[in-house]
Amino acid sequence: MSHTAFIGLGHMGGGMAANLVKAGVEVRAFDLSTLAVERAAAAGCARTVSAAEAARDAEVVITMLPAGAHVRSVYAEAVFPNAAKGALLIDCSTIDVETARAVAAQARELGFRFADAPVSGGTAGADAGTLTFMVGCDEANLPAIAYELAPMAKTVIRAGDPGAGQAVKICNNMLLGISMLGVCEALNLAEALGLDAQAFFEIASKSSGQCWSLTSYCPVPGLVAAAPSNRDFEGGFSTAMMLKDLKLAQGAAAAAGASTPLGASAEALYALFERQGYGDKDFSAVIKLLAGRLDDLS
Ligand code: NAD
Repeated sequence: MSHTAFIGLGHMGGGMAANLVKAGVEVRAFDLSTLAVERAAAAGCARTVSAAEAARDAEVVITMLPAGAHVRSVYAEAVFPNAAKGALLIDCSTIDVETARAVAAQARELGFRFADAPVSGGTAGADAGTLTFMVGCDEANLPAIAYELAPMAKTVIRAGDPGAGQAVKICNNMLLGISMLGVCEALNLAEALGLDAQAFFEIASKSSGQCWSLTSYCPVPGLVAAAPSNRDFEGGFSTAMMLKDLKLAQGAAAAAGASTPLGASAEALYALFERQGYGDKDFSAVIKLLAGRLDDLS
């Protein structure tokens, strides 16, 4: 029987692999962390002792790794030499566009079908099987890719050719990082001007300042029930993750010769916040840095 190899069973990959198992897929799982492999085994995955063993004769390989260097080495050393002929290879990690394109080109040369398919939706989406996948692939491969991703997905959207999934992801997250800073500044100014936060929120939510960072993820507590600001900025999307994506965006902008001064400023501000020791806090906690009130954070 054909199987799916799943390599990288961390905060995201663990839940994703479990959802494949629930859908009846035979998953052979590997992670450098034994604990992560044990968790995947408890969810019904078959344990393996190396990425090469997981990938051996796999018809489908899914990777969820920290960064581009991990993706390059796992594909070169374990996936390409071992996966079944013509296998479908899907990298869901968030990595640099250049690496995604390079790995896609190698895969094509070797006769594999490849997609970069980074996700939005965080660990809650990974656990619930409701991720959005932004896919860079040859158009002809999309139906097969969407079929394999379905047990983990709310939405699968093709962004364009290989590399386009990563490009969309970093552009979106650069926009998110910038818009959150704008919302934080506006809320801090509103407070300094003596405005009631609720009144400002209600009016701006129905005016031209409206955006997701304000109405779905408000960094002031008590205004949006699900926002991490209500939980001392625990959980959510960490400052370290946001910083990683902003760095990827700046790298891509430099390589493409694009001007992104607000993205550069956002990177500098989140880097400053991380250096103060708040890398694990949700990124919306940056409101405290901008307000000069880091002492409010635990
Ligand atoms: P994580 O650090 O929890 O998991 C990564 C896993 O990869 C770890 O368990 C690590 O041991 C494993 N790993 C590293 N090198 C390996 C190798 N050579 N072979 C096998 N396993 C290896 O990270 P995560 O939060 O699960 O994120 C994974 C990817 O998803 C990242 O690229 C991240 O940017 C992206 N992402 C994360 C979130 C989030 O909310 N956590 C949201 C969207 C996208």
